[in-house]
Amino acid sequence: MAKKTKDEINAADVSAQLERLARLTRAASYVSGLNPAQWDALRYIARTNRFSNSPKALTQYLATTKGTVSQTLASLVKKGLLTKIIRAGNNRSVALTLTELGKTTLRDDPLLHLEHAIDNLSGKTKRRFARGTAELLDMERQRQNQPGFGTCQNCRYHREDGQIHKCMLMGEELSVAETKLLCVEQTP
Ligand code: SF4
Repeated sequence: MAKKTKDEINAADVSAQLERLARLTRAASYVSGLNPAQWDALRYIARTNRFSNSPKALTQYLATTKGTVSQTLASLVKKGLLTKIIRAGNNRSVALTLTELGKTTLRDDPLLHLEHAIDNLSGKTKRRFARGTAELLDMERQRQNQPGFGTCQNCRYHREDGQIHKCMLMGEELSVAETKLLCVEQTP
């Protein structure tokens, strides 16, 4: 068996570091009267498109249970951070929307500390880190058979004709801003 060189990356160390980073980040998420699950939900609703802002899609995104999401959403509604309304044309579906207070609260998102730290990495490290984490996430979600939650840019249903963007799956036009949001239906 080939001997390991001094510079060789130890995958066990890297996975332990990733796991600890995730733990520390979650431990620092009990701020502004919210818990980590509530921050997760607010972030998701802020980043998702109008086809994906449902409790069901949120449950899939967080890979959790319907009951947990239901409790989280009820407390966010009670705090005035989001609204749940019946979706137009579908009585059985609920659309989740951030209130103005919800949007303001996200300005104090504890995850911003990590975002700034990533931004401060050197260009090459940041690019490699971004590529590496995206590949790892993709492998793990495929192994667990979870949806990708990508954006329109890499979706087979996205059509662009000049300034017009269209979703061929939903048969609807999309604004440029919407093409950059997460979608539960995204299909590479
Ligand atoms: S084009 Fe794809 S990613 Fe965009 S809204 Fe349609 S299904 Fe979702």
